[in-house]
Amino acid sequence: MTRFTKICSLMLFGSVSLMAQSKKAPVTPVSALDKKVDALIASMTLEEKVGQMTEVTLDVVSKTGAATQKMDDAKLKEAIEKYHVGSILNVSGAAYEREHWHEIISTIQTAALKDRLKIPVIYGIDAIHGVTYTVGSTLFPQEIAMAATFNKELAHKAGEITAYETRASYIPWNYSPVLDLGRNALWPRIYETFGEDPFVVKTMGAAMIKGYQGNDIGDKYHVAACMKHYLGYSAPLSGKDRTPAWIPDRYMREYFLPSFAEAVKAGAKTVMINSGEINGTPVHSSKYLLTDVLRGELKFDGIAVSDWRDIQYLFTRHHVASSQKEAVMIAVNAGVDMSMVPYEYSFFDYLVQLVHEGKVPMWRVNQAVHRILKVKYELGLFERPVGNPSDYPKFGSEEFRASSVQAAREAITLLKNNNNVLPLKKNLKVLVTGPTANTMRSLNGGWSYTWQGDVSDKFAANKNTILEAIQKKVGNDNVTYQEGSKFDTLTNVEETIKAAKKSDVIVLCLGELSYTENVGNIDDLNLPDAQIQLATELAKTGKPVILVLAEGRPRIVTKAESLSAATVMTYLSGNEGGDALADILFGDVNPSGKLPITYPRYTNALVNYYRKNLENGNSDDSHGYNPLYEFGFGLSYTTFRYGNLHVSTPALKDGQTLKITVDVTNSGQREGKESVLLYISQQYASIAPDTKRLRGFDKISLKPGETQTVSFNITPADLAFINDQSKSVTEAGEFKIQLGDQTQSFNYVSATVPSRTGKL
Ligand code: BGC
Repeated sequence: MTRFTKICSLMLFGSVSLMAQSKKAPVTPVSALDKKVDALIASMTLEEKVGQMTEVTLDVVSKTGAATQKMDDAKLKEAIEKYHVGSILNVSGAAYEREHWHEIISTIQTAALKDRLKIPVIYGIDAIHGVTYTVGSTLFPQEIAMAATFNKELAHKAGEITAYETRASYIPWNYSPVLDLGRNALWPRIYETFGEDPFVVKTMGAAMIKGYQGNDIGDKYHVAACMKHYLGYSAPLSGKDRTPAWIPDRYMREYFLPSFAEAVKAGAKTVMINSGEINGTPVHSSKYLLTDVLRGELKFDGIAVSDWRDIQYLFTRHHVASSQKEAVMIAVNAGVDMSMVPYEYSFFDYLVQLVHEGKVPMWRVNQAVHRILKVKYELGLFERPVGNPSDYPKFGSEEFRASSVQAAREAITLLKNNNNVLPLKKNLKVLVTGPTANTMRSLNGGWSYTWQGDVSDKFAANKNTILEAIQKKVGNDNVTYQEGSKFDTLTNVEETIKAAKKSDVIVLCLGELSYTENVGNIDDLNLPDAQIQLATELAKTGKPVILVLAEGRPRIVTKAESLSAATVMTYLSGNEGGDALADILFGDVNPSGKLPITYPRYTNALVNYYRKNLENGNSDDSHGYNPLYEFGFGLSYTTFRYGNLHVSTPALKDGQTLKITVDVTNSGQREGKESVLLYISQQYASIAPDTKRLRGFDKISLKPGETQTVSFNITPADLAFINDQSKSVTEAGEFKIQLGDQTQSFNYVSATVPSRTGKL
């Protein structure tokens, strides 16, 4: 599958909107670096400037038809000398050895440094769960699984290690993290998100960005992060990738914007733009979102890069431009700094013409180039365009692997454990079966060695699939494997049933194969019939079925799940996911993951946990929230008791901080980790309040009998919502806290902010 196939159906929304062009550049503070950048810009021709704004994919400068990637000197010369390209991205084919990346980046930078102004190229890559396209890298669980750990230190660590290994691949720019809200279970990129909750997404996202960028993106172990996909990408109405979303401004600000606002505060250097359209306006054409909100309100001053071909799509897909040239004008005037063109140079030609014609002001080009060059300086690319191979002894090391193991162990979520069937004894006879049992593709997902993750079995051959991990754990003699079913067709069911009858327990591995973007679009959230049938047949044997779900989004499994004795969600837990699962199934590790998404019961009841209209505080099945498993749910092999919920004041005032404490006790028999989730719900407000919202979380580890006091600090600002004027406000009134089974109320008493009645 080449990236050329990334074409969705045309959509006929929107109309041409010409951007108003103001005459002057907005005034921004000037640092010494800004002055240096401006001096360089002053010496640049228009073509050199527009070149900086042009990004092409590696294919464009590679030989065509070569069995393995080879640079094409003539094409590279054209890219650098004629078009002065500022950036190159992606991989051509599948993952490379570090040595090959060294050769690629050295060749590119050597060419760039021969150009008149000697401006290094910034190379970008999707290192979204580790450095995707480098052989031997440390692949972590995907973001959805990282979120299930509810452990921000792990997100930070994963960011740090990925940055190190990305630099070890000589690449300074990472298109990660995804800060989109994973609200729509159908969407094929749910697994690339930190799930459905705005607080989790912003907290984990900021932690990961700090890990990527460290204190100085110019040191040899850190990279520039890229917040994506700004804004509202994850909520297409149809659930299909890159199809229209309708998101009122108030909702956008309440749910989708906070993760980006937090990421800007965390210092994120770059942003990638949503390929879709919102309320009929493609985001690549939205001056409101790209300039007024992103720059004006959020005060972001880094690079805004388009997504793949998205400026062209303003013409061919969205029809808000009547030509490619007009598309370039609209996008650049709206606020796009760099075009991921990425296959040719039309963007360059059109932008040069548009500036000559006065349709894109020179200040706008200078502004974009300023942002690009500044990040290049900050990354240290001028002094060190190519890293030193010997600076990265920890690449692919045991130390890094251990972090990925820990993340997978803390992510995997135990959803059901009837009669404590888990953990299993190691001397049991186990049948391992199902389509996800013996492939790394269902552990890693997309963006693993290739875009679609379709060669994980080759590149991660030294890693253990679920089957291999179980064999390693309890010995081949105790394990029988039968495929039972492929993803959508039954195979050797008879043999599988026979094997089940001879076994003590069945580990049934269902779920999905790897995918991303439009390739992962589905018309039906149900898991294919074949998999459900396999579960049904196996359950008839009377042997306990341990249902393992290895999937990128919560596929409907209600019928099969009702037959299981235990259910374990592995999400896409990465290269170490098989071993981590075996550790949990056989009791070497106590599970501690919790769902960062609602697991739906029915295909037509896709409701997020922060819903509306809870009548008289009752559970609201009649309003549609009756999931198979709620957001935040996850079991342990031990039990935790919550007690002594205490608030520092019953009446929180402006300028004060509310201290909330709760005692958590390990009331079971073994050591375990617990994610403590703080929910707060406003009882009455001028906009119908959400039933509850997560406002804090912490992860603790407790020995049997041990108690820890967990505390949270809440300010009035933490309780804010977006009102009908699109303003963030905290209205005075009553709030209810929920921590485990403990609840407690307090009031926010404001001298300045009116309650919903407008009275103080
Ligand atoms: C995806 C982005 C990715 C880019 C570069 C796009 O198709 O939407 O997430 O960063 O490709 O590979």
